Parts: sequence; C-alpha cells; structure tokens
Amino acid sequence: MSQDHPSHGRPAHDHLVVVGASLAGLRGAEAARKAGFTGRITVVGAEPHRPYDRPPLSKQVLTGGVAPGATTLPNLEPLDAEWRLGSAAAGLDRSGRAVILESGERIAYDRLLIATGARARPWPDAAEGRLGGVHTLRSRDDAAALRASLATKPGRVLVIGGGFIGCEVAAACRDLDLPVTLVESGSTVLERVLGSHLGSVVAALHAARGVDLRFGAKVEALEDDGTGHVVRARLADGRTIATTCVVVALGAVRNTGWLHGSGLAFDDGGVECDADGHVLDTDGRPDRTIAAAGDVARFPHPLYDGRRVALEHWGHAVAQGAHAGRLLAGHSIARAYAEVPAFWSSQGGITLKMVGLTEGADALVIAQGDPKTGRFLALYGRAGRCVAAVSFDSVRWLPAYAAMVAEGAPFPPIRGAVDQGRLTVLPPGFPKEDER
Ligand SMILES: Cc1cc2nc3c(=O)[nH]c(=O)nc-3n(C[C@H](O)[C@H](O)[C@H](O)COP(=O)(O)OP(=O)(O)OC[C@H]3O[C@@H](n4cnc5c(N)ncnc54)[C@H](O)[C@@H]3O)c2cc1C
Repeated sequence: MSQDHPSHGRPAHDHLVVVGASLAGLRGAEAARKAGFTGRITVVGAEPHRPYDRPPLSKQVLTGGVAPGATTLPNLEPLDAEWRLGSAAAGLDRSGRAVILESGERIAYDRLLIATGARARPWPDAAEGRLGGVHTLRSRDDAAALRASLATKPGRVLVIGGGFIGCEVAAACRDLDLPVTLVESGSTVLERVLGSHLGSVVAALHAARGVDLRFGAKVEALEDDGTGHVVRARLADGRTIATTCVVVALGAVRNTGWLHGSGLAFDDGGVECDADGHVLDTDGRPDRTIAAAGDVARFPHPLYDGRRVALEHWGHAVAQGAHAGRLLAGHSIARAYAEVPAFWSSQGGITLKMVGLTEGADALVIAQGDPKTGRFLALYGRAGRCVAAVSFDSVRWLPAYAAMVAEGAPFPPIRGAVDQGRLTVLPPGFPKEDER
C-alpha cells in the first residue's frame, strides 16, 4: 500500500474507489479531484506498477527506444490517493457497497469507478500458450519479456494475427532486422478495422519491408521439441513454420470476470453502461454510485444512433475516464458522453490516424492524396453519411474530415467549385459478419 501524501482532513465518510490502476482509472480519479471531490480516493490495481502508457509497448519499447520502466504516466492533478497495487479485485458486493480483494479484504466504497480494461486474448490451447518463447502483449511485463526474447535474435519471429498489435510487432521486428512471418486467417491485415481495400495498402507496406505475410492461413498448433520451448508452428494445411519466438496477437478480452455475482450486466465484451456512463444492472437499471470507463465500458454512442460500443482507444480511455470522474464527483453533466472515437497507430514508418468508427461502413472514397504515394486520406460512409476518416501520413488533412464525421455529413462528400474531379466510391471490403 502506498500513499501520495497523508490525507488529513479528508472526509472519511465519502470514499471513491477506483478499480483498475491504468489510463482510464488515473484520469478518472484526477477529474474527480478537479471537479471538487474532497473525500478519500483508493486506487486498486492488479499489476504492481503505477499507471503506465501502453502504446509504446508495441512500438518503441520493442525496438529499444524506450525502456519498459520509462512508460509511467504523468499525474496531471495532485491525487492524494491510497494505492493498493498488486492486489486484484475479485468481487463486488453492491448491497454492502464493498469491493472484495483476492485476499478476501473488503474495501467499502461510496462511489466506484470500474476501469479494469482488457487483457490479451490467450492462445486457445493453454499448454501451448505456456511454452517458452510464446508471448502475448498487453502489459509492461509482457513487453519486457518480448523485448528480451527479440534481443536473443531469434531465427524467425511468428506473429499470429494481423490486427494493429500484430502489425506493429511485425514492423518492430523488421526495424530490428529480424525475419518475421505474420499469419492471418482473413484476406489481409487490418481487414476488420479498415476493410480489405485499405488493409491491402498496409499489407503492401509490410511486404515491401520484408514481412513474410500469409493470408487465409491458420496456425493450428504450437510445438516444442521436448524442452518446453516452442520450435515450430503447424498450419491447418499441414505446413510448418520454424520459429522460437511467437507473438499471439488475437485481440483483447474485457476484464469483467470479477463482476460475477454483482448483479451488473456484463460479458467478455464489456460492462453495460447508460449514456452517462453509469453501469446497468441485469434489469437494465443504472446504479448511480458506479460508473465505468475505458476499454471495459460498453455504452450507447449518440454519434452511431445509440449503437452500443466498447472502444480500445487511448484517447477514449482519457476522455471517458475524465467524464466518469466528473460524474462520480457529482458534477452535473448536461450531455451524454459523446466524444468522437479517435485512434492512431505507427508501423513501418507510417502514422495512421483514424477518427470515427468504420464498423458497418458500406462505402469508401480516397478524399485526398494517393495510396500509391503513401500519403492519403480515406473517408468511410454508411447509409449516405460520413462515419469515419483515416489519414495515412497526412494528419494535417484530418481535422476537416473529422468535423464531417462528427456532423454525420452527407457521403460521398460534396466537393467545392474548383473541383478535383469526382470521387470514386469504392467497396471498403469488410468481411461478412460470419467471417469476422
Ligand atoms: C500494446 C498496446 C499498444 C496500444 N497502442 C495504441 C495506440 O497506438 N493507439 C491507441 O489509441 N491505443 C492504443 N492501445 C490501446 C490503449 O492503450 C488502451 O485503450 C488503454 O490502455 C485503455 O485504458 P484502460 O485504463 O481502459 O484499460 P487498461 O490500460 O487495460 O488498464 C486496466 C487496468 O486494470 C487492471 N485490472 C484488471 N482487472 C483488475 C482487477 N480485477 N482488479 C484490479 N485491477 C484490475 C489491469 O491490470 C490494468 O492495469 C494500445 C494497447 C496496447 C495493449
């Protein structure tokens, strides 16, 4: 247990407990203080570390530019909090208003922020997942272990999964001049987020940098040679890939297991919230003493006709964490949480920035630049409205299109009098629902 400074004078009867000592939890606690909350704050974290930043873990930490321990997040407000690190919450007793730690200790709360985020989806075969040289990447400790493994110069790294983390890891391997194979069961990388049209543009970039890409392929088993260390992967078509370093990048699962028995509505995809950010019970009623924020929260997004979404975006964890902190501090919030989703990724020397949600998009235009040059901006439409914009190494074009996404402006966009010609409307190429 550690304390920022002694909390003399704090009203003991008003206690905000934050479960999840990471980005959304930290920014939530800070926002509560900034909004005038003068009671006690306790932050409970499963990991032994103070909150740290995850984006560098799949980028500069792997290439050696940033040490794993140098990722600690700065405090933006004096918190005067008690830190219960290395102790996971194992249960929630809402009638008794207490968080129950793994040790059995109960921490009473008056207000509770759920910010337990997500964990890496593990390799489906637990024994294979435990083989030496098999990694997932979510935490600072995961990144330190993978970095150490890459430093041994494995003959070939195998990345399983072509989402953002898989692509960033493959790019980092090439930065380190390591041979790397990326296996993806879909038709290209980033297919679920960008569609196959733009996914193929990203794939071409990685191929040009020497990543061995295998699409429509499935790793069926990871095998060792009797020493407990992985030596090969077996594909569904019977072929094998020799490797001593495997990165399983199969997406994330929300950390909601500790809420079993709480009466709250949740599943592996998140804990259900109302538009304000209060959590919902299994009858759909909000519990006004509890809010959730960040990767773990699933909420109706006003920009997308109230569709329930759970986002895995850094900027969202900051904004929704702050919103929840103000909410719990009793600040009157006139509007529902409605931040436009925003995400970035850097891989293979390019920076990709996305605003909005591509999910359900039925059309795409290249609104600026040219994919052949590597600098362009793509706009996604759904039912005649702009729903997302993605810039590739061209962030200065993004704000104007972000405004169109925020307004839900007509798609395809209407161009000015000095027109650069009609925009070609393309199919984005998202996999069908049953292929996702
Ligand atoms: C490798 C990596 C790279 C990324 N890169 C980008 C990027 O380039 N751009 C971008 O926009 N986003 C990126 N993200 C996503 C971004 O980091 C997340 O959206 C953000 O960390 C979410 O913050 P959070 O606080 O909601 O959850 P998390 O950061 O997941 O934190 C949740 C915390 O809760 C703790 N916890 C879990 N269960 C319990 C429990 N029962 N009791 C107590 N504590 C618990 C966890 O240990 C963890 O510390 C990346 C994520 C990863 C993993």
